[in-house]
Amino acid sequence: MSVLWSDLRSVVRGLLTTRGFSLVASAALALRIACVGVQTEEALTFSPLVMEQQLNGGAPLVDHHQHLLSPMLAGRLFDSAPGQEPVTADRLVAQLDAAGIQRAAVLSLGYMHGSPRIRGDDEYAHVRAENDWTRQQAAKYPDRLRALCSFNPLKEYALTELDRCASDPGLRHGLKLHFANSQVDLQNVRHVEQVREVFRTADARRMPIVVHVWTGDERIGKPYGRAEARVFLNDILAAAPDIPIQIAHLAGAGPGLDRGSKEALAVFAEAIAVGDRRTRNVYFDVATTVTLQTSPEDAVLIAARLHQIGLHRILYGSDMAIGPNPTARQGWAAFRGMLPLTEAEFKTIAHNVAPYMR
Ligand SMILES: [Zn+2]
Repeated sequence: MSVLWSDLRSVVRGLLTTRGFSLVASAALALRIACVGVQTEEALTFSPLVMEQQLNGGAPLVDHHQHLLSPMLAGRLFDSAPGQEPVTADRLVAQLDAAGIQRAAVLSLGYMHGSPRIRGDDEYAHVRAENDWTRQQAAKYPDRLRALCSFNPLKEYALTELDRCASDPGLRHGLKLHFANSQVDLQNVRHVEQVREVFRTADARRMPIVVHVWTGDERIGKPYGRAEARVFLNDILAAAPDIPIQIAHLAGAGPGLDRGSKEALAVFAEAIAVGDRRTRNVYFDVATTVTLQTSPEDAVLIAARLHQIGLHRILYGSDMAIGPNPTARQGWAAFRGMLPLTEAEFKTIAHNVAPYMR
C-alpha cells in the first residue's frame, strides 16, 4: 500500500517541479491526481484494501495499445545503449495487474524491422519472427493478451504477411500499421495506393486495423494536418468500410497532441459529428495523449473532442512502458487526473472494449 501512496507522492512532486505550472494550479492538479481512488493519506492508512479496490474497480477493462519488445528487436534497436531489457508477456501482465487492467491488445512491433535504421537483407524474416514471437508470448496468457500482426505497408512483402497473419489463429485478430515509422507520405499518390491496398485486403480478410496515422511534422519533412487527414478519410478509410479501425493516439503520436495532430483530430471529429458513413467503424485510442504535462487548455480541447466523437468510440490505451514512458497504472492515473470528464464518463471509457477484443 505504501507503494501506492509513494507513486502518488512522486507524481505530485513531479507536478510541483514542472516548469510552467503555477503553484496553485500544480496543487489543484496534484489533488486531482491524488483523487484517483485515494482521498487522503489518512484514509489510505485507515483502509488500504478499500482504497486499492477503488483504484482497481475504476480501471479500464482493456488496455488497447500495448507492445512487447522481443530480445531480437531490443538488441537491434538499442545496440548502442545496451541494457534495454526485452518486454515479455510476464512483464506486461505484471504491469496490467498493478493497474487493475484485465486485458491488453499487444500490437506487434514487426513494422520496426522495416525502418531505415535497422533494416537489412533479411528484413522480411525479421518481420515474421517479430510477429511470431509476439504471438507466442501472448499465447502464454490467452485470457489476458491478444496479439495483432504488423508490418510496413509500403514493402513488397506487405500483402504476403497480411495473408499469413490472417490464416494464423494467434495473429488474425488485427493489424497494427505505423505510418511515421514506415515513412508513409500521405501526399505521395503511390504510397496512398499501397496503403489503400492493405486496407482493402484487410477488409476482405475481416482483420481490424489499429493505425498510427500521424506521419510526422515539418521538422522531419513529413507534414501532417488537415490535408493529410482528408486523404486518409477519402482515399484510405473508404477502402475498408466493414472492419473496425482504431486511430491510435487520438490521431497524434504522443506525448500530447502537436498542432498537426489537433488539426487531423478536428477533421475526424467533424466527419463523425456530421454522420460521415466512412467513419461508422472508427474508434480512437487515447494512448499517451494525456500526460502530467498536458496544459489545462489542451485538457479542455481533448475533452471537447471526445464528446464530439462520442465516448462509445473512445478506447483506453497506454503504450509500452520503456524509457520515460509511464506504466499502465501511471498512464491511467494521469488520464483520470488531468481530463475534465465526469466519473460516469471515465467509467464509460473504462468499460469500452473494441470489437476485436471481444
Ligand atoms: Zn505504440
